[in-house]
Amino acid sequence: MQGNQVIPTDRSYWIVALVSLFVFALLALTVSLTSTIEEKSISLESSFVVSEELEPLSIINIHESRFSPLVKDNLGLSDAPHWVRISPGQVAEKEQYIFELNYGLLDQLDIWVYALDENGRIIEEIATYTAGDKKAFVYRPIQHEQFLFPIITTTNQLLILLRVESEGPIKVPARLWEKGDFIEYSGSHKLFMGLFFGYMIAMALSNLFIYATTRNLTFAVYTGYVTSLAMVTATLHGIGFRYLWSNNIWFQERAITLFACFTLILIIIFSAQVLDLKNTSKRANKILNAVKYIFIILAILSFFLPYSILLKSILIMIAVTTPVILIASLNLAFKGNLIARYFSGAWAALLISGIALTLENLGLYELPIDASYLLMVGAIAETLLLALALAISFSSQYKQAETARALAVENERKAMAAKDELLQLQMQTKEALEYSVEERTLELEIALRELSEANRELERLSAIDPLTGLMNRRYFDKRLLAESRRSRREKRPLALAMLDIDHFKKINDNFGHIAGDACLKHFASILQNHIKRPSDVICRYGGEEFVAILPATDLEGAQTLMEKVRKALEQSPAEFENQSIKMTVSIGLSAKEIAGDKEQEALLDKADRLLYEAKESGRNKVIAQAL
Ligand code: GH3
Ligand code: MG
Ligand code: MG
Repeated sequence: MQGNQVIPTDRSYWIVALVSLFVFALLALTVSLTSTIEEKSISLESSFVVSEELEPLSIINIHESRFSPLVKDNLGLSDAPHWVRISPGQVAEKEQYIFELNYGLLDQLDIWVYALDENGRIIEEIATYTAGDKKAFVYRPIQHEQFLFPIITTTNQLLILLRVESEGPIKVPARLWEKGDFIEYSGSHKLFMGLFFGYMIAMALSNLFIYATTRNLTFAVYTGYVTSLAMVTATLHGIGFRYLWSNNIWFQERAITLFACFTLILIIIFSAQVLDLKNTSKRANKILNAVKYIFIILAILSFFLPYSILLKSILIMIAVTTPVILIASLNLAFKGNLIARYFSGAWAALLISGIALTLENLGLYELPIDASYLLMVGAIAETLLLALALAISFSSQYKQAETARALAVENERKAMAAKDELLQLQMQTKEALEYSVEERTLELEIALRELSEANRELERLSAIDPLTGLMNRRYFDKRLLAESRRSRREKRPLALAMLDIDHFKKINDNFGHIAGDACLKHFASILQNHIKRPSDVICRYGGEEFVAILPATDLEGAQTLMEKVRKALEQSPAEFENQSIKMTVSIGLSAKEIAGDKEQEALLDKADRLLYEAKESGRNKVIAQAL
């Protein structure tokens, strides 16, 4: 309920102007109503005496000086029976009159009407009535919310004697009407009452509807408050007893205290909520909270305790409540709280009417308005201004809530945007990472492939003799092992030949090293031309020495092949720079179906020894021998 400065004040001034107009119209109506009463009702001269006496005639005979003039209607709180002697001015003979008592809460009421002669002596008793709200409504001579008693005159002079007993305040707002005048007055009175209760019902219903749609409890509290206040008024004017609980004397006795307590409990709750006392004025809030509980207790007690005690307690508590609320409200109003300003106005309306009535009761000021009407106008002005305060408070709350909601939505939107951004960033980073990993992997794969290709090439190159293009010694060693295992596995003979060019040193010496190299190439090509099986391998063993691995070849077959090689070299000299260089070769050959480990070494050794033999025995020959 803070931050009410948001409310545009110019709009509120219009509303205040309308409220004032309405209230002034009501005041004008009551002024005219009051003047009607003064003009049309028959002037009464009243005096009273307090006495326990039960007989009217003995009261009439009491000496004049014992009676006190009845200036005001209100005789105050007293358990004692009050006797009131009312002498109207001149009345018409044989006319219908109505005697009115406009206060519905009198407990016990006895009335005697006497006709007097010109000298003021009693001729006869015209009528007697007993009334009061200790009796069911149906017993009333005229079924009306006010106490009304018909009188048919027989002479020009009347004497009305009342005996009043009541637990509550004794009020005797008595009037005497000619029947026609009463009907006139009654019409205006009912219009005013209709306006008052119509207004109260409209306020209660409209705020109830607002509560139903907004679910804002303060509207419900206001509805309750207006209803209770209307019920208090209805009880005071006898309307509740007439229309709502006609035959329930028990409730009629308690109605006024009960509704008064409800009204005060609800106005305290309402004030605390609308003025946000919890935050704006802690002390006032504490006091009012305590007072609220006292009123709740009083409401419960109103079912058990006598009416007079309760009424006094309630009046004391009202004397506490009203200034606390007014001071808290004024304090806030001076601090610039707009709601508190209207609130103070509302209380002021009620207070002004209350003060005016007090002044009149003290005889200091003559009001142009009948007291009960003035209080009702005050109540209307008060409830209107309270409704205005409530509307402003709700609107400011609503605006605050709206601002808060907008802020929340904005924050939510920002949070979502930040989240989106983060997600996008994460996705981008992930994509970039994935991409770079992929890229690196690809690069690595390529590098690995290149490396393995290079390795394979290196391996191939390292196995080849660069001069002759045959396989080299390293390769031979591996291959011999592999082929000997195969021979063993497949149980087939393995032939191995060692070939050494004869007197190669001389060729080198005679033709030079380059020619020697050409001769080696020439012999290699002859070997390649003769040994064609894919499984056969020819290797350069070192210098001018060569080896041939001939898998699945027996000694004879291998010998035939080697003979062909030997003859081929003998018959085809190498050509180098227009020179023909003749060469021969000695070959040692052995073969065996390999059976055990290291037999291939023995085979190699055998071929080598046979080669040596071939050299020793004249060269240019093949010596073959099984192992
Ligand atoms: P033998 O008939 O007893 O085999 O006589 P040889 O001269 O062939 O025997 P030796 O093994 O003593 O000589 C081999 C010579 O081969 C030694 C070297 O000068 C020559 N030689 C070895 N490797 C190469 C080479 O790659 N190129 C050339 N041009 N000559 C080589
Ligand atoms: Mg040699
Ligand atoms: Mg040689």
